[in-house]
Amino acid sequence: MEALGTLIQKLSSPRKIVITTHVKPDADALGSSLGLSNYLIKKGHEVTVITPSDYPYFLTWMKGNDQVLDFSKEGDHKKALGKLEKAELIFCLDFSVLNRVNELGELIRQSKAFVVNIDHHQDPEDFAQYRLWSTAAAATCELVYELIVELGDKNLIDKHIAACLYAGIMTDTGGFRHPNTTKNVHLVVAELLEAGADATAIANLIYDSNSLNRLKFIGFAITKRLVVREDLHLAYFVISKKDLKKYQSQTGDTEGLVNYALSLDGVKLAALFSEREDGVKISFRSSVDVAVNKFAAAHFGGGGHKNAAGGKSSLSLKKTVTRFESLVEEYQEDLFHSIEVPTL
Ligand code: 5GP
Ligand code: MN
Repeated sequence: MEALGTLIQKLSSPRKIVITTHVKPDADALGSSLGLSNYLIKKGHEVTVITPSDYPYFLTWMKGNDQVLDFSKEGDHKKALGKLEKAELIFCLDFSVLNRVNELGELIRQSKAFVVNIDHHQDPEDFAQYRLWSTAAAATCELVYELIVELGDKNLIDKHIAACLYAGIMTDTGGFRHPNTTKNVHLVVAELLEAGADATAIANLIYDSNSLNRLKFIGFAITKRLVVREDLHLAYFVISKKDLKKYQSQTGDTEGLVNYALSLDGVKLAALFSEREDGVKISFRSSVDVAVNKFAAAHFGGGGHKNAAGGKSSLSLKKTVTRFESLVEEYQEDLFHSIEVPTL
């Protein structure tokens, strides 16, 4: 592993840089990518952000969105390959295992570029030459902010960069509510507000830009697709492909849905199963005293954070859910009694 000095030296002259992030980017993934990209462009580098897939419509306001290449899109794919081939540096943001970027993973593994990984997820894979990694960080955006400051360029953080970084911190802390909302989060956010991020506008863009279809879909899901197992402190949604089609679901429409299950009194473990073209996508959320990331990694090929993780399954929707319930029954001792409950 190289030291920060090597990265500083590499960035001391104009470079061809690619920034990439995980599949179906969320606000932290896209915000850290575009925040860093806008900064590096200001420093005179040629920067391309490549995402492995599309992302929610409520993130498209970020500066630089129009230049993002979607590797899964026919029109962008070839261009992205060309950029990757020429890249001298590749920044991998908000993921730490290469299977989170689909086919891009193998290209990164084989690339001759200097690979930098900036992330806050557990158990990083060893694929980068330089890693800025901390699970104590609430968001990758927090780490990108700290990197820019460390590079002596705090004054280059303008309102656009600040807005990108603010968005990721806001969403990864669940609107400054999750246990990762540290003093440092507030200190960083204070600086971002000072630099011009508009907290109200960003919250509006991300949380209050529902389509009517999405709102109806949420109502439908809560009414018809929520399963509650009080005896297991468990609640979960099961959403079929047909349901998604009926409500003309867009990328991002299921985001946040799982939190309604967790918000139920007495529920400590919540999940969302959604049937996609390439299998069942699973989101897990838990209360502070329950850890879901190891469960997701052990049984659903996924991972994430202690209280927010994800995974996938290639079984049918029904079989996935049956398997999940029996796993929760089997491992409830480990799941529900492994962590001390913090007291106020
Ligand atoms: P979400 O449920 O919002 O998709 O993801 C919650 C958290 O788990 C995020 O931090 C995300 O990066 C992580 N995560 C989601 N799906 C996967 C997965 O398939 N593999 C891994 N390693 N992490 C995931
Ligand atoms: Mn993140």
